[in-house]
Amino acid sequence: MTISKRVLTSIIPIFTLVALSGVSSASEFSKEETKRPILVQGPMPIEAEKFAERLENVQIEESGSTFEFYIGTVDDYPVIVSKTGKGMENTAAATAIAIAKYNPVAIINQGTSGGHDPDLNVFDIVLGERTVNIGSMKTGDRAKGEGIVATDWKPMDVMASEGSAGEDPNAEKARYYEADPDLLAMAKKVKDHYTKGKVVEGTIGSADLWNNEVDRINWFHKNYGTSVEEMESASSAMISKAYDVPFLAIRILSNNKTNNGAYNADTAAANQEYVYEVVREYISFLNNK
Ligand code: SAH
Repeated sequence: MTISKRVLTSIIPIFTLVALSGVSSASEFSKEETKRPILVQGPMPIEAEKFAERLENVQIEESGSTFEFYIGTVDDYPVIVSKTGKGMENTAAATAIAIAKYNPVAIINQGTSGGHDPDLNVFDIVLGERTVNIGSMKTGDRAKGEGIVATDWKPMDVMASEGSAGEDPNAEKARYYEADPDLLAMAKKVKDHYTKGKVVEGTIGSADLWNNEVDRINWFHKNYGTSVEEMESASSAMISKAYDVPFLAIRILSNNKTNNGAYNADTAAANQEYVYEVVREYISFLNNK
């Protein structure tokens, strides 16, 4: 046995003893340190601040003139509420910034929406089994004087290839982003906690667009299978997927043109209460993993 080996064999037991004596506190400490936060996004103040009020140990960080991050905890687990501002660009940027800055373990995009399904009423909630950008379109080929025929427009998938989406026939399809199965399962588990309406699974369509033409709403419902429309979820889903972050959209109906459901701003708070229950369920899922 060489000297160094002999030294090592006598040192190792001492190290092992020291390490073992501190085993529980040391490993718990490192577990605390590596907990990645859950990110909860809401576009408008009424869609983010209710949840932010329920956080503990809150610190606010700002980015640019639009984005606010409320960094806190729920049940001792790190949760960040992100006020993204309205629309697809704001949401994409807020999502990318949050991923780069905070390395979230999961992202929930939540807020209000307009119904595309006449069976859904104001205060009902849609869990986005999938989200789709319903503003990404290619128009029909029409010469001067041949008019504008919106029902001829086709979906356009900007992620189909790195080539021209305008020339590529493979790009003439809608791209659906699937919800993370664990997030969706946890959201389904707490459906019963919500009493102001029903909670269903469905397809959430997003665009910087507010459709008030019922025929057009019905066209989206038929051709894209949309349950509701809003202006953010598909954008966040796209960026979450690019960074492989589990994603779920949860949207409450604040209005539904197809069954005369008038806009009700109180829905924003109701959705956050439900999403809070989803986050708690997801935290216990993460803690038991
Ligand atoms: N109703 C107010 C504010 C809504 S602005 C107004 O008219 O000014 C749009 C925001 O509400 C977006 O964040 C979007 O996600 C959501 N939204 C709710 N219902 C919608 C609908 N029918 N179409 C599009 N976005 C809707």
